[in-house]
Amino acid sequence: MSIETQRWKVGAATITSVVESQDDIPPGFLLPDATEQLVQQHPWLVPDWATPAGAIGLRVQAFVVEIDGRTVLVDPCVGNGKTRSLPVWNMLDLPFLERLAGAGFLPADMELVVHTHLHADHLGWDTHRVGDEWVPTFTNARHLYTEVELEFVRVFVFPGEDVYADSIGPIFDAGLADVIEPDADLGSGLRLEPTPGHTPGHTSLWIESDGETALLIGDFMHHPLQFAEPHLAEIADADVEVARETRGRMLHEMARTGALVLGAHFPTRPAGRVVIDGDAWKFVPE
Ligand SMILES: [Zn+2]
Ligand SMILES: [Zn+2]
Repeated sequence: MSIETQRWKVGAATITSVVESQDDIPPGFLLPDATEQLVQQHPWLVPDWATPAGAIGLRVQAFVVEIDGRTVLVDPCVGNGKTRSLPVWNMLDLPFLERLAGAGFLPADMELVVHTHLHADHLGWDTHRVGDEWVPTFTNARHLYTEVELEFVRVFVFPGEDVYADSIGPIFDAGLADVIEPDADLGSGLRLEPTPGHTPGHTSLWIESDGETALLIGDFMHHPLQFAEPHLAEIADADVEVARETRGRMLHEMARTGALVLGAHFPTRPAGRVVIDGDAWKFVPE
C-alpha cells in the first residue's frame, strides 16, 4: 500500500494522518445492519469511502497533532507482532514506524499519547517487542488513560488476547502513564470531551487554534455511511443505545461548529466537514 502523507491545517495547528492499513470490506462486517444496497443509496460515498459495488473502505490510522511546539500522537493503531483474536490484526508486520518517519516524526518526538479509547487498534504501537518483552515505543511521552477505560479493559477481555499485558501494563511499569479525567484540558487548545457508547469511557479530542476547530472523533463513528444512516451501530459498540445518543448529539455539534472532523477509521479522505443533507447529514472531504 502506498499512501501519500495527508496533512491538514487548523489555525496554527497541523494534523497528519499516519496509516497502518486500509482494506475494502463488505459493509455488514463493520456495521451489521448495513448492506451493499444501502451503501449504493448514497452515491456521494463513491469513490472516496465506498466502491460502486457497495463495499466500504476501512482504514486504521493514527493522527499526529502539532501545536505550540508540542507533538501529540492520537490512537496509535494495532502494532506489530501482537496476538489478537481478529485475524486481520493478529501478528501484523506493517511499516507503521517507517511511515511515521516518512511523515517527519520519530517516536522520541512524541510528548503526549492520547487514546480515544483502549480497543486494541488504538494503542498497539505504544509498545513493541524486544526479545521476550514489550517495551514502550514513545519513551518521552506521557500516555493518557481514563479510569473508566482501564476498568473496561480489565473486565471486557477478548479470548486469546491480553491488551493490558502487552500494551498498557508496560507503560505503567515504565512510569509513562497518567490517569486523567474524561473531559481533561490538555492545554494549547486541546480538550477531551466524553463521547461514550462505543466504549464506556470513549472520548474525542477537540483542537482549537486561531478561531478554527477540529474534532478527532475516534470510534464514535466508524464510516462516513453513518452520516447518512446515523442509526447504524458498529459491531463492537459496547452500548448501542448510548452510542446512538452520542452520534446524534455530536452530529448536531459537528454541523453547528463547522469543525474539521477526522475519523480514526475513515478511509482515503479521512477529514472533512459535516453538512445537513435532508433529514440526515453528509461528509464533505478536505
Ligand atoms: Zn473501537
Ligand atoms: Zn477502532
